[in-house]
Amino acid sequence: MGKHQAYTTDNSFFCMRCGNKGIPLARRESSRREAHHRKKLYCRFCKEEVNHIECRTLDEVELFKENFKNGVYIDEAEASVAYVRNSRVGQIHLGKAQG
Ligand SMILES: [Zn+2]
Repeated sequence: MGKHQAYTTDNSFFCMRCGNKGIPLARRESSRREAHHRKKLYCRFCKEEVNHIECRTLDEVELFKENFKNGVYIDEAEASVAYVRNSRVGQIHLGKAQG
């Protein structure tokens, strides 16, 4: 297990809902953002627009996978999908997970 692999600088987006890697975006802007920036993208697995998590390093990818496994994004993913479906209403209800 090499600890010093070169980090890729590709921005990857991972679907919050299914955890699959989304369609890569070629972005030239070097705007600095916080880690795990959210972006709403079309997911070809979910077949609708879902919030994706931007991962710029392998560490962030690992963190995403860990969070995904723990169900961290379930509410947010559903809220983002619900928002698209009800975009005319424009209301997001973020339910708090029980337990
Ligand atoms: Zn998906």
